Amino acid sequence: MNKFIGYRCSICQTEYLPGQVTYTCPKDGGNLDVALDYEALRAKYHPEDITSRTDASLWRYLPLLPVSEVAGGGTPLHAAGWTPVFAVPQLAAPLGLKNLWIKDESRNPTASFKDRASAIVVARAREIKAEVVVTASTGNAGAALAGLSAAVGQKAVIFAPRSAPPAKIAQLLVFGAKVILVDGSYDDAFDLTVAAAEEFGWYCRNTGYNPFTAEGKKTAAFEIWEFMQGKLGQAPFTVFVSVGDGNIISGIHKGFKDLLELGWIETMPRIVGVQAEGSAAIANAYRAGTEEIVPVSARTLADSISVDLPRDGVRAVRAARETGGTYVTVSDEEILQAIAALGRVGVFAEPAGAAAYAGLVKAAGLSQVGAEEPVLVMNTGSGLKDVKAAMQAVSVAPIIEPTLEAVKRLL
Ligand SMILES: *Cc1c(COP(=O)(O)O)cnc(C)c1O
Ligand SMILES: [Zn+2]
Repeated sequence: MNKFIGYRCSICQTEYLPGQVTYTCPKDGGNLDVALDYEALRAKYHPEDITSRTDASLWRYLPLLPVSEVAGGGTPLHAAGWTPVFAVPQLAAPLGLKNLWIKDESRNPTASFKDRASAIVVARAREIKAEVVVTASTGNAGAALAGLSAAVGQKAVIFAPRSAPPAKIAQLLVFGAKVILVDGSYDDAFDLTVAAAEEFGWYCRNTGYNPFTAEGKKTAAFEIWEFMQGKLGQAPFTVFVSVGDGNIISGIHKGFKDLLELGWIETMPRIVGVQAEGSAAIANAYRAGTEEIVPVSARTLADSISVDLPRDGVRAVRAARETGGTYVTVSDEEILQAIAALGRVGVFAEPAGAAAYAGLVKAAGLSQVGAEEPVLVMNTGSGLKDVKAAMQAVSVAPIIEPTLEAVKRLL
């Protein structure tokens, strides 16, 4: 069955066949939504055909993905997704919430949500026989591409800003990718990657550019759907997610839209985007009631959501607007507090991952979530990715002489 039937531009709605375009709309540069043959999918599958699959990875959703098969069975490429969801009543109670869950994306093979996107892009690269895959990255997208490429012997090139946290750069290097550090911002690396891909004929994974990344990210929505069905049936709920380029939130929205198209859910969940105050181009557009994304000069310690010009801003604004959600912005101080709060329930988040929970705390304080509203917060990345930021979130440990006396004095 040929389920992948083409693309539709999110701006001008022009439709393209799979072979006609590769990245964005040739007319207006708009992000392309992957179009699936929903009619055929509806006829062929029932929800149980998916939920009864045994793959403990995002590949359980292969029938709903625009790739046909995956190379390299049993490798890390096969382990992306299917991340755990934790109930956190200790965090719910002080916020006045009845039901709160955290979905921990740090449990992906390279420790961030980006593995979902890279898994699908690597599968696509194998399908189109791309020799080299390239991406710009503040670290996580690159680590995901490097790690999952290494798993199946795919060549990868990563452009990262030289300011990326050392743990992320170490990951890139250990996975054996060709790593090029750019003396500039993520945005500079992004533009350079697009130019290099064109010049050298590489396949470009860039977020908010390659339409397949959102298809990988939508699998998080499918997992949330399966989880919530078990907990709440068809009852409504709200998802909080941090936003930089806007591709994760757009991907999650796309996943729920797919489920609506298939008739497998009745109502669209609310999606709330959380941005850092110092990197809030999408939240600004949301609040101004437009889809026009005005670049900012980004400044936040949450490097994974530090973006001057978000590349998937329009769809990201819609993800909140079309679902009854909203945008919340949080300070770096609030993000650090969130790292500490999540740590106290056993979840170690990097700043961008903790931002989503910081956003929930803020929204609850502003009465933007009701007590009865079940909430799921995404932690998008591991705290081990940025140890320097983690140390800022906690007080330093005391150093003592190795004597019991010294312990007694301290206690
Ligand atoms: C990339 C990333 C985000 C934001 O995703 P966008 O698609 O850029 O909005 C959030 N958290 C972490 C840990 C990330 O790596
Ligand atoms: Zn267009």
